[in-house]
Amino acid sequence: MTVSSERINSLLPRIQEFLRAEIYPLERDFLSRPFRELLPTLKAKRDLVKAEGLWTPHLPKEFGGLGLTLSEFARVSEQLGRSPLGHYLFNCQAPDIGNMEILISHGTDAQRQQYLEPLIRGDVRSCFSMTEPEHAGSNPTWMSTTAVKDGNDYVIKGHKWFTSSAEGASFAIVMAVTNAESTNRYKRASQIIVPIPTEGFRLIRNINVMGEEGSDYASHAEVRYENCRIPQTNLLGREGEGFAIAQERLGPGRIHHCMRWIGICERAFELMCEYAVHRELSPGVQLASRQTIQEWIADSRAEIEAARLLVLNTAAKIDDKGASAAREDISLIKFYVAGVLQKVLDRAVQTHGARGLTDDTPLSYWYRHERGARIYDGPDEVHKSVVARSVLKKYGFHE
Ligand SMILES: Cc1cc2nc3c(=O)[nH]c(=O)nc-3n(C[C@H](O)[C@H](O)[C@H](O)COP(=O)(O)OP(=O)(O)OC[C@H]3O[C@@H](n4cnc5c(N)ncnc54)[C@H](O)[C@@H]3O)c2cc1C
Repeated sequence: MTVSSERINSLLPRIQEFLRAEIYPLERDFLSRPFRELLPTLKAKRDLVKAEGLWTPHLPKEFGGLGLTLSEFARVSEQLGRSPLGHYLFNCQAPDIGNMEILISHGTDAQRQQYLEPLIRGDVRSCFSMTEPEHAGSNPTWMSTTAVKDGNDYVIKGHKWFTSSAEGASFAIVMAVTNAESTNRYKRASQIIVPIPTEGFRLIRNINVMGEEGSDYASHAEVRYENCRIPQTNLLGREGEGFAIAQERLGPGRIHHCMRWIGICERAFELMCEYAVHRELSPGVQLASRQTIQEWIADSRAEIEAARLLVLNTAAKIDDKGASAAREDISLIKFYVAGVLQKVLDRAVQTHGARGLTDDTPLSYWYRHERGARIYDGPDEVHKSVVARSVLKKYGFHE
């Protein structure tokens, strides 16, 4: 199944051309130099994306976006995923994309003006602060961070980690327990916007992940909220709705991630094929002549095609019936596509031999950065369990 509409058919070649002309040439520097040194260049490219009318493609037109359906944006996300810089340069990178979406759905006019508008312009960045080191993140209803009312404020106390992109962010959306007395564990927490800096917001460290501390938009921070005093007007939605809002964010978020991963797979696949043909094992003998390589290419081709069909099918279901009707499908694509990504990347690295471990291609960057795909937004095991339980219920399984 391919989403085909006139606007997407004219949009995708423009994005592909932009990537080829403007973004791929930046990758060498991105992979080998500190991110901050590239900021002026990246800012100029972001301005170019704006001038081309391609900025924030995921947003409705009234918010400056392209007004695409989820299925259409999925196709865009695949193209942008072909470069580690794609989503950032088009201002639709996680976690900002999810924060924009929830501010649009649940923000008050004042919150939208203060937090959403600069985020859409690309003037600021944001982060989402839910996971805690002391509790299993795969059970998002279990947390110790609290927000207690005091006068017109909330006082937030807690310890979070893997708050991605906290360094340099202008605000965090924090999950905290506001309704500790609720017997419904899904209604205990709320989402509250914490401006950064705020007294009591303490960024402890950027956690070393796969050997990299990261900086700016590619970092994962440990954060303490030490009696952060935040006006109650910074509550997103209603009290106790934090979990429901998080779930709402995760459905489309998993489509964005899965299609980005398919973009990575396609680029890795191309690099693998080009190298297999170009590399000679002895004079005149192409690496591509070996059956193992051919098997990797055939398996990768089949798996990428299957993954794309599954994701687009799920996106179409969400467009038609909403995310709650596609719960099983969303879990299925989350673990399946993350698995395809790991396999395709691994084969592409192996095909390149030692070169696969260098920064001469984006392969090793993705190999390090995307191992997390099987963990973030829910580990494989949780999603497999969702799928299996949903299937088994149709056969009479009860919990
Ligand atoms: C790169 C990256 C970026 C992240 N960004 C953010 C962010 O911006 N904001 C944020 O709040 N969080 C973020 N996270 C945290 C992420 O959401 C959690 O890591 C994830 O929910 C899993 O939680 P955990 O790490 O505590 O693992 P745990 O819940 O402790 O689970 C450990 C392991 O146990 C197994 N397991 C867990 N549950 C089950 C089950 N039901 N059945 C069988 N096995 C199970 C799985 O193998 C799992 O990997 C990020 C994580 C990564 C890796």
